[in-house]
Amino acid sequence: MSDQTEYDYVIVGGGTAGSVIASRLTENPDVTVAVIEGGPSDIDREDVLTLRRWLGLLGGDLDYGYTTTEQPRGNSHILHSRAKVLGGCSSHNTLISFKPLPSDWDEWEEAGAAGWGAKAMDPYFGKLRNNIVRVAKKDQNQIATDWVEATKTALGVPEVVGFNDKPFDEGVGFFDLSYHPENNKRSSASVAYLHPHMEAGDRPNLHLFLETWATKLELEGKIARGVHIRTKEGVEKLLTARNEVLVCAGAVDTPRLLMHSGIGPKKDLEALGIPVVHDLPGVGENLIDHPESVIVWETNGPLPGNSAMDSDAGLFVKRDPDHKGPDLMFHFYQIPFTDNPERLGYERPEHGVSMTPNIPKSRARGRLYLTSADPEVKPALDFRYFEDEGDYDGQTLVDGIKLARKVAEAEPFKKWLKREVFPGPEVTDDAEISELVRKAAHTVYHPAGTCRMGASTDELAVVDPELKIRGMAGIRIADASVFPTMPAVNPMIGVLMVGEKCAEMLGGDGR
Ligand SMILES: Cc1cc2nc3c(=O)[nH]c(=O)nc-3n(C[C@H](O)[C@H](O)[C@H](O)COP(=O)(O)OP(=O)(O)OC[C@H]3O[C@@H](n4cnc5c(N)ncnc54)[C@H](O)[C@@H]3O)c2cc1C
Repeated sequence: MSDQTEYDYVIVGGGTAGSVIASRLTENPDVTVAVIEGGPSDIDREDVLTLRRWLGLLGGDLDYGYTTTEQPRGNSHILHSRAKVLGGCSSHNTLISFKPLPSDWDEWEEAGAAGWGAKAMDPYFGKLRNNIVRVAKKDQNQIATDWVEATKTALGVPEVVGFNDKPFDEGVGFFDLSYHPENNKRSSASVAYLHPHMEAGDRPNLHLFLETWATKLELEGKIARGVHIRTKEGVEKLLTARNEVLVCAGAVDTPRLLMHSGIGPKKDLEALGIPVVHDLPGVGENLIDHPESVIVWETNGPLPGNSAMDSDAGLFVKRDPDHKGPDLMFHFYQIPFTDNPERLGYERPEHGVSMTPNIPKSRARGRLYLTSADPEVKPALDFRYFEDEGDYDGQTLVDGIKLARKVAEAEPFKKWLKREVFPGPEVTDDAEISELVRKAAHTVYHPAGTCRMGASTDELAVVDPELKIRGMAGIRIADASVFPTMPAVNPMIGVLMVGEKCAEMLGGDGR
């Protein structure tokens, strides 16, 4: 480990956004950057770098494994996987890559994130270094191909070849992924932004503190001066930032670190005996996600073996003509995704497939909070799944199951299917479908919004449109926690674009 303790920038979290910012800032050889990353390097880790092995990472050594509080109308057993490895969740996830839709960015601007509208954000997609390509022909297996065909016929939606080519409301097709089809290697944030320099050794100004935990921010009044760290060996020290501290620890750990450092809702911190440095009521509020549930079929036999990552295609529909963008989404899984139905007493078929109705614009607004002043104790995550007034979220899942059943009736997909396993063909009543699919709901691991960006008049905004923590100096946040609202599409590309924009705001060298 480097003995140096002072840097121009200290970044907490070498994850999705953190990797981008670290890489961009150190393009200037005169700028020094320390990255504090809780997990190990992903270099030479085939278990991490092979995209198709993603499921094997969940719940393992490289997963912080957060849980949820009791969810009275949903599933209280969801494991919220968060990666503990260089590259963060981009080293753990399925790398489905969607440029957020123009309506998603415009919604941010309307929510007070001035300068983050669609027109302003578009160029950052072009800057991304990840290898974003459509699922390669060799990975497009026959059942997924037949599912795409059947969906077109059953629902009358167009096939989309290249979801990032132009904005869409509806469509079915193979996803774009950040991967290298020739060897199924991830093109995660770490692979795309850090490995070239770690391998070439051409960034002596980039200092990675791996398997090192940021325990607390060093604050002088309302000015951030650095970060206290604890290494794997238990050595504690302070890294100071000449310019700024950048917190990129993700939607769970960023608000957690802030609150343990005395930045957050005064009343809550006082109740736990944490000295309050800066009363910021929005820290931990606005916890948003993409909840989804599942319909599972047994197939007549084994499926073709070729695939990029077993969920290679998807579907978007727009039920409400007045809605901006799609309002119902599905992943098609070439596996029987029965973790939650099994808990409800259903059996996993030997061979099967699934469709997962997903709520692009969930109306649930949850909350993350501390339950102890002990930084080792994980925060509580209360997503308030399906507690929205009017039951928009629950109804979206019911509509999804009905549409999925129509697809299952259409050829050439129908011929593959033996029977519906979950919820089961006998479950046809809306209320009954709703009850079952809410209890079997899961997450696609998209928590965001817990330090949301907003205007100076927004009491619950945590950062301003320059990503600076409101009322403080020397500290910004750049990760999924700053999302004011959830994009209709999977969020990783949005996070990478936040990273690019943050680096640009720092002027590359930040001086
Ligand atoms: C299983 C899974 C599948 C997903 N699939 C997709 C998908 O296909 N497409 C998509 O668009 N999105 C997907 N997502 C979501 C997407 O990956 C995340 O939204 C995004 O990567 C979050 O980026 P981030 O920078 O906010 O946080 P992260 O990438 O999680 O980075 C945070 C980093 O900070 C480190 N850290 C945290 N606290 C500390 C601390 N105190 N000290 C030191 N280090 C710390 C962590 O180890 C981590 O590396 C998925 C997520 C998961 C988990």
